[in-house]
Amino acid sequence: MYYGSIEAGGTKMICAIGDENGNILDRFTTPTKTPGETVPLMLSYFMNKAKEGMKISSLGIACFGPIDLNKSSDTYGYITTTPKTAWMNYDIVGEFRDTLEVPVGFDTDVNGSLLGEVTWGSSKGLTDVVYLTIGTGVGGGIMSGGNLVHGMMHPETGHILIRPVASDPYPGRCPFHNNCLEGMASGPAIGERWGKPAAELMDKQEVWELESDYIAQALMSYILILSPQRIILGGGVMHQEQMFDLVRAKVKEKLNGYIQTSELDNMEDYIVPASLNDDQGIMGGIKLAMDALES
Ligand code: ADP
Ligand code: ZN
Repeated sequence: MYYGSIEAGGTKMICAIGDENGNILDRFTTPTKTPGETVPLMLSYFMNKAKEGMKISSLGIACFGPIDLNKSSDTYGYITTTPKTAWMNYDIVGEFRDTLEVPVGFDTDVNGSLLGEVTWGSSKGLTDVVYLTIGTGVGGGIMSGGNLVHGMMHPETGHILIRPVASDPYPGRCPFHNNCLEGMASGPAIGERWGKPAAELMDKQEVWELESDYIAQALMSYILILSPQRIILGGGVMHQEQMFDLVRAKVKEKLNGYIQTSELDNMEDYIVPASLNDDQGIMGGIKLAMDALES
């Protein structure tokens, strides 16, 4: 059986065909332009593969947002109020379902990555996990009691308010909230605060001390509210691997002994990097496709 997967991102679209073990058998990547330019290329990919014998039984789409995940809504399966205006109110699920004539599973990009990690990655088998990506934006997927959390829409864990450190004059760059986590700690926020792209600030210890503090504040809230068994950190900014130990230490310091669990005693296993070589999103899409076929 072949399953189709799409990781729909703001800069690129990855299409892939995989099997029930999460193996990626083939893939195609194309830049995210407008739906009129990009979607026909994606559809052609799956249709050409079908002619070559790799006909997919279902498709999973892990998509940038905001998106409508409410199955009883008229706009279920749409990309909704995205700042990428060409994609605003675009019926991405409908387009692929109607043209390829297969069941389509749909979730956020971050829930997709989380699903990949708990199905085939180092968090396999866990039921309560947070996946946070810190890149151009900040977003998070949540699994609680074995279910991906959607609620009234989907969580927006990147937009929780952060308490600025007294020595940091930076006001934050989120147009909605200024000093939310994304406003204070995204890659572009680091670049704007320090006057240089984040990737070029490797040697400046104070940059990563401050960044770790803001990430740790957010993780403390997630831990207190969601009681996760593990937190996975991904995204371009987390390529600064020295931050993992800083974040672990600051989370411990901020919790200040209030919660005592074996997980928190073992921070190396509690706050971890993604484990699937940046394929967690596309692998999560395969699982979304498998689940769509079953239901
Ligand atoms: P996106 O969020 O667009 O999907 P990424 O997760 O790769 O993509 O995030 C891109 C952001 O990550 C950029 O803002 C960039 O500044 C930052 N970034 C990329 N590489 C590094 C690095 N090595 N160190 C710190 N920041 C980085
Ligand atoms: Zn915000």
